[in-house]
Amino acid sequence: MEMRLKHGLRPRPAIGLGGVASEPVAPVKPAASRPSVMQAPVLVLNATFEPINVTAVRRALVLMLKGVAQAEETNHTEVHSTQKAIQVPSVIRLLSYRHIPQQSRALSRKNILLRDRNTCQFCARAFPASELTLDHVLPRSRGGRSTWENLVACCYTCNNRKGDRTPEEAGIKLQRRPRPFTLHTSRQLMRLIGHRDEKWRKYLFY
Ligand SMILES: [Zn+2]
Repeated sequence: MEMRLKHGLRPRPAIGLGGVASEPVAPVKPAASRPSVMQAPVLVLNATFEPINVTAVRRALVLMLKGVAQAEETNHTEVHSTQKAIQVPSVIRLLSYRHIPQQSRALSRKNILLRDRNTCQFCARAFPASELTLDHVLPRSRGGRSTWENLVACCYTCNNRKGDRTPEEAGIKLQRRPRPFTLHTSRQLMRLIGHRDEKWRKYLFY
């Protein structure tokens, strides 16, 4: 369901910015009341210009209005807060450095599908999230645990075919060894998304 968004990432920061999420802030309304403007992806840089996340315009504006971040790149649209017009950011930078833990993403169905890009890790075909399940590579009945390294996105056909067996026993091949969803993975995703926005490139291709 996350992948239904045009740019492929759910526009909520999953890493690093959780601490400021709950504070109340005056709502920001887009001038042209187009919800897509507020949901467009914004690249978030750490204070050191290191890319750390992708968020939505709406959230980026909240961070800017709070003085937590400033715009480094804008697109040519304006939105109006209570008093002033603001250029819609394309890239923002946090004003104070945040330590980003290497494995800060929660292990969840959503994040496993995101890591595996909604692609069955056995037949390598992409599916809508609703047509994917999670497979324990080493079955739970054999002591396989629910970890980043043992859970993969799997289509129902492959899941049925594999059953309660290891990939070797079932004669199907795992496309690649599953890994934790780290900042490295996030950067790969940001690079993919970055192809859509020229202004992101100088921050991503370094
Ligand atoms: Zn499959």
